[in-house]
Amino acid sequence: MPLLGSTATASHPRWEKWKEISADRWKHLIPTLVRPFMRWCQETSYGRHKGSQHTIPLNCKCGKSARHVEVTAVYTTVRLEHHSLMYCECCPLALTLVAMGLFPASPIRPSIAFSLSHLLFASKLFIYISPNITAWCSTISSNLVEKGFTPSATMSKLITPGALI
Ligand SMILES: [Zn+2]
Repeated sequence: MPLLGSTATASHPRWEKWKEISADRWKHLIPTLVRPFMRWCQETSYGRHKGSQHTIPLNCKCGKSARHVEVTAVYTTVRLEHHSLMYCECCPLALTLVAMGLFPASPIRPSIAFSLSHLLFASKLFIYISPNITAWCSTISSNLVEKGFTPSATMSKLITPGALI
C-alpha cells in the first residue's frame, strides 16, 4: 500500500517514472551531502550554536550564469524563514543548504528546506518514542487544524488513524 497519494496516482506511469528519477537523483546527491553535514554538526555542535555559514554568498568562478531560487526554511512548525539564494549548476544547491543547517525537500531546485537540528530531533524522537501510529496521525491532524489549515480530502484520508497500516 502506498504511503502517499491514491493507488490510482501511485500506479500512473508518469508518477512511477518521476519516483524513479527522483530516487536516482537522491542516490547520487546524498553521498555529496555527508561532508557538509559533518562539518555543520562539528561547527554547530549538532545545531546547538548557529553556524558561521548561515547564509553563503555565491563565489563560484566557473563562468556559468548564476541561478536564483527562493527557499522557505522550516525551522519548527511555527518558524519559517524565506531565503533568496544564488547558486551555480556546477555546485548543487543542496550543498549550500546543508552548510546553512538545512536539508532540501527535493534534490533539484528545492523550494522548501528543513532545519537539520529539527530533523535530528525528529529522528531521535522516532528512535525513543513507542510506536503509536494513531497518536502520530492525530497529532499531525490536530496540529494542522490548530494552525488554521484545512487538510484536503486526500490529506485527511492519509492522516486518519489506521490509514497507514
Ligand atoms: Zn559554477
